[in-house]
Amino acid sequence: MTKWVYSFGAGHKEGRADMRDLLGGKGANLAEMASIGLPVPPGFTISTEVCTAFYDNKKQYPDDLKGQVEAALKVIEKAVGLKFDDKSHPLLVSVRSGARVSMPGMMDTVLNLGLNDATVEGLGKAADDPRFAWDSYRRFIQMYGSVVLGVDHHRFEELIEHTKLDAGVIEDTALTETHWRQVVEGYKDLVHQETGKPFPQQPHEQLWGAIGAVFGSWMNPRAITYRRLHDIPAEWGTAVNVQAMVFGNMGDDCATGVCFTRDPSTGENMFYGEYLVNAQGEDVVAGIRTPQPLSSSVAKPGEIPLEQAMPEAYRELMAVRGKLETHYKDMQDIEFTVQQNKLYMLQTRNGKRTAAASLRMAVEMARDGLIDEAEAVMRVNPSSLDQLLHPMLDPKAPRTLLGKGLPASPGAASGVVVFSSDEAESRTAKGESVILVRIETSPEDIHGMHAAQGILTTRGGMTSHAAVVARGMGRPCVAGAGGISVDYNTQVLAAGGKQVRAGEVITLDGATGEVFVGSVAMIEPAVSGDFGTLMAWADKHRRMGVRANAETPMDAETARKFGAEGIGLCRTEHMFFDPERILAVRQMIISDSESGRRTALSRLLPFQREDFRQLFTIMAGLPVTIRLLDPPLHEFLPHADQEMQEVADSLGTDIATIRQRADELAEANPMLGHRGCRLGVSYPEIYEMQARAIFEGAIAVAKEMGKAPHPEIMIPLVGMKKELEITRAQVDKIAAEVFAEAGSKIEYSVGTMIELPRAVLLADQIAGAADFFSFGTNDLTQTVFGLSRDDAGKFLPHYVEAGILPKDPFVSIDVDGVGAMVRIGVEKGRAAKNDLKLGICGEHGGDPASILFCEQVGLDYVSCSPFRVPVARLAAAQAALGAAADRTA
Ligand code: ADP
Ligand code: MG
Ligand code: MG
Repeated sequence: MTKWVYSFGAGHKEGRADMRDLLGGKGANLAEMASIGLPVPPGFTISTEVCTAFYDNKKQYPDDLKGQVEAALKVIEKAVGLKFDDKSHPLLVSVRSGARVSMPGMMDTVLNLGLNDATVEGLGKAADDPRFAWDSYRRFIQMYGSVVLGVDHHRFEELIEHTKLDAGVIEDTALTETHWRQVVEGYKDLVHQETGKPFPQQPHEQLWGAIGAVFGSWMNPRAITYRRLHDIPAEWGTAVNVQAMVFGNMGDDCATGVCFTRDPSTGENMFYGEYLVNAQGEDVVAGIRTPQPLSSSVAKPGEIPLEQAMPEAYRELMAVRGKLETHYKDMQDIEFTVQQNKLYMLQTRNGKRTAAASLRMAVEMARDGLIDEAEAVMRVNPSSLDQLLHPMLDPKAPRTLLGKGLPASPGAASGVVVFSSDEAESRTAKGESVILVRIETSPEDIHGMHAAQGILTTRGGMTSHAAVVARGMGRPCVAGAGGISVDYNTQVLAAGGKQVRAGEVITLDGATGEVFVGSVAMIEPAVSGDFGTLMAWADKHRRMGVRANAETPMDAETARKFGAEGIGLCRTEHMFFDPERILAVRQMIISDSESGRRTALSRLLPFQREDFRQLFTIMAGLPVTIRLLDPPLHEFLPHADQEMQEVADSLGTDIATIRQRADELAEANPMLGHRGCRLGVSYPEIYEMQARAIFEGAIAVAKEMGKAPHPEIMIPLVGMKKELEITRAQVDKIAAEVFAEAGSKIEYSVGTMIELPRAVLLADQIAGAADFFSFGTNDLTQTVFGLSRDDAGKFLPHYVEAGILPKDPFVSIDVDGVGAMVRIGVEKGRAAKNDLKLGICGEHGGDPASILFCEQVGLDYVSCSPFRVPVARLAAAQAALGAAADRTA
């Protein structure tokens, strides 16, 4: 015989907290609370297996269920000394749903089940309080009528409103027995009208009706949608809890309330909650009266805290609070009811909390010895740290919404609207705060994005240029705000009838994607002591190194501040876009002779050397991975006539020649074209200039600071060992030259980015010429899938929605496909060279799920944007702790 039903309370200990899969979260915790001696009204849980069996078997219950439910009901009757359906003093129960994880969309709780026209009179006499009995009955009909019988709950509320109007009272508590009798009559008529049947009077029929409604709600559209969005399998099923009622609505020595064992918004170790006298169930959250605080210490004038109103129950509740925290070792969210000064516990669960609270509680609980440091590290969700590192809008500040886009990069920013990157730069230089507003951004906007406090685009998705770059820089960004129109000519931004002109202020909330007119007050991030403490604990437990993707001194400083242990990817092409240098870059590209290119490159050399000198100063003593020039050259070409003229003048030629050369350089598929090391092979002088700049910069810093940086020179887009050998030789040759000129040496290494399937498949060969591999998983994802991320916006969101792909593979690594490639690359690379250093750069390096994967394949480090460094440190620690737990399991 299968056991379908588990009793709790009154000495029955059939369930436990770790039986959540079988009993649901609510049932498992009710059983746990009862078994550690807390005052829980007795009841039973019908297991989630019944739900599964019910749907597997054409909505039929297992044969032996009925008998087990009857028996468990008898157990409750015995425990409380009352009988279900007893006309003189009936047992009433609540019927509550409860899946493994709390799930909106499931059936709401039905209270006071077991009342009918006869038992209500009995209850009134037994309690010597007919008003209470009729109040309970009307609540029951309303709940049962709406959640089980499907009558719109507003219809019930209208009837109460009419009764209150007629009686001239404002609060429910002012209604008398007579009023409630009238309400009940009205309710019964309403149910009859709406369902074509009288309200069910038989308690057993009521009970099975409610049980059936809970199981039925598992497959309602709301629940199905919620499960789909949260990856909850339908097989989990829901449990049903049936529990003896306790009454918070029997008078002024009764109450109901909810509380958190610590403050869920700040994490402060204080008792935080609310209660209502003479109330039941959800009255506290329903807003029918103003709830009162629990503790005297937080009560405002005029409020009556529970501590004062019911000192005995309050003392008991404080004891429960302590007991629950020591038992669960986490902050609890609890529901209680006080019936005639006696406390009853109705629910406990780990409480939801803000990122700040989560951090503070984890650190304080570890300090107090409730949990250990490793557990504290596991408690905080790495992704939530993002919230703590950026300014946020003050939740209380007034605001006027202009429109909404995608929450592309977190943080809030206010500033004057500018429509061009040059203007963003010039106004910022004058000390203004600006918001750069573009239809979309391109690499030429980097300086403007850097200068701006925030970025707004009306086109593009979460992986658009604006979104990726803004996240990298830690700039708040709202992308793809399609409802907002931008007119560059009139310099106006408009949405929903509102207009904002260039120079007027707007505010962005990059965490929600909202755009507001004018400025909205903000609160600065509190990178408090707790933050540092948790990070230090995380560092103790992680195995992988954490570096940053950074190319400007500012990014590098930020990265160091957040604890980066070096640079994992310095892209050099951004250094070429600088207005001071672009002319030289264009001269280099346009010239069709090596000597012409060398002349132009020699103009760039001092700039690049200075770039590296600054980076190396910040990163002295640490590894800095520098990727040599990667993008197709035509990205640097002049477009506008004026730009072409400038280049023509500087080269002493005409615009037609320039245009012709530009046409020659155009490619059909530039991303698969003349780029990466292919440029280095064709034009050795480019990489030679970069190598020279790197070595000269590094030697200068070594001399100045007495501490040399460790340059790791990374050749992009290698598919063949020969490519790496050729370009490596260029680098080594220059190194030898520079060292000879300087009369001193530094350590350096040369490696490659692994971003082509061929490089993975031949990683053992390529490793022969490489000191390190860095998996460039942005491009590797494109090349493994054969899809361009710039064009993916048209179908990828649909793929994710339809479940064709579980996640956007540019956000979280595609473990099955791209991950398999990385695994092969790691295995082949290490087999050929066991001290080959392995890392990852690209967006995935800051994504916790991808970081877990990196730990599992044994990479040496991850590299991510500076603002994600703390996220990566924590995620790497969690991954290492998880891996350690797996090994001991
Ligand atoms: P939810 O999952 O929405 O929190 P619950 O099942 O916890 O729903 O119940 C809703 C309300 O009813 C809560 O305030 C709860 O404390 C109260 N409640 C549930 N069962 C009982 C009971 N047996 N006696 C008194 N109140 C109850
Ligand atoms: Mg609840
Ligand atoms: Mg690449």
